[in-house]
Amino acid sequence: MHLTAVLERAARRAPAKAALVTDDRTVTYAELLDLARRAATVFRDAGVEPGDRVAVMTFNTPGFVVAAFGAWFAGGVLVPVNHKLTVPEARYAIEHSGAVVGVVSGELAGTATAAGPDTAWFTTETTVAGLPDFDASTRAAAPIDAPVSEDEDAPAQFLYTSGTTSSPKGCVHTHRTISAVGPLITSTLGFTRDERFLLAMPIWHAAPLNDWLLTMVFLGATTVLQREYDPVGFLRSVERHKVTAFFGAPIAYLAPVQLARAGRLALSDFDLSSVDKWLYGGAPLGEQVARSLVEAYGTDRFFQVYGMSEMGPVGTALYPQEQLTKAGSIGRGGMPGVDLRVVAADGKDAGPGGTGEIWLRADTRMTGYHGDPAATDEAFAGPWFRTGDVARIDEDGFLFIVDRLKDVIIVGGENVHSQEVEEALRGHARITDVAVVGRPHAEWGETVVAVCVTADGADISLEEVRDFLADKIARYKLPREAVTVASLPRNPSGKLTKHVIRDGLVRTGA
Ligand code: ATP
Ligand code: MG
Repeated sequence: MHLTAVLERAARRAPAKAALVTDDRTVTYAELLDLARRAATVFRDAGVEPGDRVAVMTFNTPGFVVAAFGAWFAGGVLVPVNHKLTVPEARYAIEHSGAVVGVVSGELAGTATAAGPDTAWFTTETTVAGLPDFDASTRAAAPIDAPVSEDEDAPAQFLYTSGTTSSPKGCVHTHRTISAVGPLITSTLGFTRDERFLLAMPIWHAAPLNDWLLTMVFLGATTVLQREYDPVGFLRSVERHKVTAFFGAPIAYLAPVQLARAGRLALSDFDLSSVDKWLYGGAPLGEQVARSLVEAYGTDRFFQVYGMSEMGPVGTALYPQEQLTKAGSIGRGGMPGVDLRVVAADGKDAGPGGTGEIWLRADTRMTGYHGDPAATDEAFAGPWFRTGDVARIDEDGFLFIVDRLKDVIIVGGENVHSQEVEEALRGHARITDVAVVGRPHAEWGETVVAVCVTADGADISLEEVRDFLADKIARYKLPREAVTVASLPRNPSGKLTKHVIRDGLVRTGA
């Protein structure tokens, strides 16, 4: 379906139903549709032609949703921009996508205008002198009668990846690939039209935007928008808005538990009983953490989801009954509607006990990376998407991510999974952060290097690292070098950028 039709359908079915709820405002489906049609006029008047990109860089606010649907009614392409980016980072997405018009939360206007000086910016939430007010312009504009285009195969989003393995890539999604996400996620997780989903993770990110917000619109259900996540605000929102489902990175669940341990709040002070689905993803939960969450939140209704921007995102899910027995796994096989293979190095499908790259196939696959046909060719294999994630399959068919393909270190022909060595080193009392990478070596191909941040800042010796690991991992996986650094580079999503670390090692020779 065209995404404008997804909203029109929801508004026709239940016009008075709350589409968006904030602490001080409710936007019904009829209102959202009306505002989107008006916003389309604002964008058209600002020069947006079919296929033009509209950048949106905001907190979790109704303005984002109005701008997104407004862009689609105008035939435009939404480019969601991370609101935490610095000027050079934001410039990358804005220049690379070629956004002609943008909408930015007033507070972030300085970053947006410096990053995209040629983009025509509107502000939302708060006004800024010299920039047009998107909210007021929208209210004043006449609604357009019908979408400028209803071509389902036209681009709808340029979704930028986190930039973990290289520079962020712009995944081009069409109305068809994005609207295929809702049915798939609904059948996987059992959402209904009565859902009240709390969106507290950043709205510009692939999963919050397509898996949660747009799936709620697909269902005609309600999204509660929390402007920005904070541990107490999150619990309050759940109670106040009788939330039925929430998605967070593991840290979003752990932060309140840590406050509770420090005696600064009690989870039992909040009525969380309305929640039926606690969803998490983006990073695996270890067995210990999974157990502590089940205990702290007093429920086992946790679901893990695994996916990536290129696929919508969809992929796999781990269900409540598996949280404790298969802790750390991303689930068994693809979600309904998602085909999954684990392809070993020899090109054959791996079975139980095997290891290989996860390949996914679904109607939600992007059409390609914007402006990078070579990268698209490399990532596609016929109808499949090569995820670049390496998984081990256990005896029951459950998948465990062991590494990124680009981070696997090959020592004398043996594969060393960097994440496995990191996991082992995280148990060391002096190590507070660690990255394990390969250094090119004439004889061995590569050698294992442990790059560590220590609690006291003092150097950690290679002997100390090797002694600690000796009874935990096989000899060939042991680091041949230990480097102590003040901090490790991460991308704006908080993921380690190991390509930066590898380049640094080669450049400095240290
Ligand atoms: P880039 O593609 O630019 O290197 P990225 O892959 O980190 O960055 P995203 O599309 O935001 O960009 O993230 C998808 C990736 O996140 C997946 O390929 C996987 O490596 C990781 N991931 C997502 N969900 C999970 C999960 N539940 N458990 C473990 N890893 C996950
Ligand atoms: Mg990726």
